[in-house]
Amino acid sequence: MRVGIFSDVHANLEALEIVLKAIEYENVDKTICVGDLVGYGPDPNQCIEKVMEIADIVVAGNHDYAACGMLSTEYFNEYAKMAIDWTSRVIETKFTDILSNLPLTVIEDEITVVHATPEAPGGWHYILDIADAQRSFRALKNSLCFVGHSHIPVAFVQDQNGKISIRNPSELNIKTGEKYIINVGSVGQPRDGDPRTTYGILDTNKKKFWLKRLPYPVEGVQEKMREENLPPYLINRLSVGQ
Ligand code: ZN
Repeated sequence: MRVGIFSDVHANLEALEIVLKAIEYENVDKTICVGDLVGYGPDPNQCIEKVMEIADIVVAGNHDYAACGMLSTEYFNEYAKMAIDWTSRVIETKFTDILSNLPLTVIEDEITVVHATPEAPGGWHYILDIADAQRSFRALKNSLCFVGHSHIPVAFVQDQNGKISIRNPSELNIKTGEKYIINVGSVGQPRDGDPRTTYGILDTNKKKFWLKRLPYPVEGVQEKMREENLPPYLINRLSVGQ
């Protein structure tokens, strides 16, 4: 089975279209979205529509719940808050209904899908270091977990002795007996210094995972954000992937 995985679209339609086209070309059997369909970007309705049409599994991100009033924005930074306020105003009711019904976690076969952490999906913590990963591995019911949230691609691998290492997810061999927590980065707002959009491919027959990067028309989304008076900080960061 081949699976396409992407996360943190953040209403960036230009980036999402590139990723969905690439995933289609990869001949996948299943497509997974790890949450945060909206927030920050200018096309929330179109992005929700496209993701729901194509993805087989979609979990909720904190911005998705915030946009439909299910999560307070008191812990959001001021720019994220402004973007959520704007999103809440423009989002169509049929799409708020969809977002409010997204599950926090989906466990299917050997794969767990959760936006933040498997141990506290609604706590919105980040898995940034070995200690964070250790807490998450303890709660993990199976061997493979896909997360998003930090917008920084990274793989945490736990070997048979329980030792955890941090690996580059651009190409991973999936070994029996090891456990993996893979952050697939962000489609619509990369923050690892690389402005290109990103998606992952899992091949369960070849026992491989690849994280791939592709350029997309950043200026197009920035122009739309200017028209909607979204914060310049959010517009400029897309050029540098920070
Ligand atoms: Zn996000």
